[in-house]
Amino acid sequence: MKSLVLERKDELSLRDFPIDKDEAVLGPRDVRIKLHTVGICGSDVHYYTHGRIGPFVVDAPMILGHEASGTVIETGSEVTTLKAGDRVCMEPGIPDPNSKATRLGMYNVDPAVRFWATPPIHGILRPTCVHPEAFTFKLPDNVSFAEAAMVEPLAVGVHAATKAKIKPGDIAVVLGAGPIGLVTALSALAGGCARVYVSDLAEKKLEIAESLSPAIVGVDAGKESLVDRIKADTDGWGCDVVFEATGSPKAAAQVFQPLAPGGCVVMIGGQSEPIAYDAGAAMIREARVENIFRYAHVFPRCVAMLSSGTIDVKPLITRTFDFDESVKAFEIAASAPAGDVKMQIELPQ
Ligand code: ZN
Repeated sequence: MKSLVLERKDELSLRDFPIDKDEAVLGPRDVRIKLHTVGICGSDVHYYTHGRIGPFVVDAPMILGHEASGTVIETGSEVTTLKAGDRVCMEPGIPDPNSKATRLGMYNVDPAVRFWATPPIHGILRPTCVHPEAFTFKLPDNVSFAEAAMVEPLAVGVHAATKAKIKPGDIAVVLGAGPIGLVTALSALAGGCARVYVSDLAEKKLEIAESLSPAIVGVDAGKESLVDRIKADTDGWGCDVVFEATGSPKAAAQVFQPLAPGGCVVMIGGQSEPIAYDAGAAMIREARVENIFRYAHVFPRCVAMLSSGTIDVKPLITRTFDFDESVKAFEIAASAPAGDVKMQIELPQ
């Protein structure tokens, strides 16, 4: 089927790809889905521009895309919760149901997890896919396909906010105003934060951040000291939670500086190399440090919050391309335009 294929580093093509036969078999608890909208993720772009992420190396052509929504077109014989015509979004990582990690309730860190567009598993920038019912979530009528394709990145923010154990009235800082930083800010507010400071160097991204909620305060880290600002606004005490969503070693090295005693740091941004970690600064605060890797079973919460209006991701979707323009869309995404947060691709229906 016609798919967006990463042939090798720096080379994409939209071409017929022989995945049809792998997808021909519909298991009893699987559904077949016609894809509607697929978001372009930083990880897709990183595979395109670098050919690898840490230990995951693209050494054979791979279909990209993992942030997806679509419509069920066929159901396996034992499927009970979905039927043809249902609009859905899909969780892209399928663990081994019998693994120790799964039995412990942390299937996202199952070493056997098969995650779309992570070598050697193909992604879903293609017309249809087969997916387990258990990882396919029905959408309420008031959640659009575009919003539903934002559930995957939103799930990262919701998982991070959950790990932070936010209390009503907490003050949080999010380092980085990219898509993950912004969904984390929205999740922190949904979790009860009174105010969320978002710091970045890109003015346009900070404008978008502030437009999301009156409780979000943008801090231009190139023009003012984030630590001074937080200290000034909290009578010198510091913030309750810091979310590191840049993946920059420099930002990570200073992650405890704005944190209050007893506060929590959540590391979200991926680090491919070992980084400096200020253990002394963590100790004198008795800081709690959490690390997250993707998420585990938060899609239903995300869908519920989009439906109720608790979280609105629509302002984050800044550009939409047709499937035929996929290669161009990735070239634009790779140039990291300052005014864009999330770009999406729509498949022909
Ligand atoms: Zn993603």
